[in-house]
Amino acid sequence: MNVTQIDADDRGHDRFSVVSDSGKTYVVTYDGSGDGDPEYVALWSCTCPAYKYHRNTCKHITAVAEFCDQKEEENINDQI
Ligand SMILES: [Zn+2]
Repeated sequence: MNVTQIDADDRGHDRFSVVSDSGKTYVVTYDGSGDGDPEYVALWSCTCPAYKYHRNTCKHITAVAEFCDQKEEENINDQI
């Protein structure tokens, strides 16, 4: 799974392109207004069929969430 941050959409939401292990590319979008909301994962969306048909957090969304966590950690380390 290869995650890359791409340009935000026209509403200013963060977008990420995810290349899955099967070589397909999907776009994951995050509506950043949901921080602190216990159901904030519902604010992620993905262009893959699994998300489209089940509206569940798919593995691409999980990969992007991990990518963001790592980036945050790196930012903190940079400040130390
Ligand atoms: Zn997906």
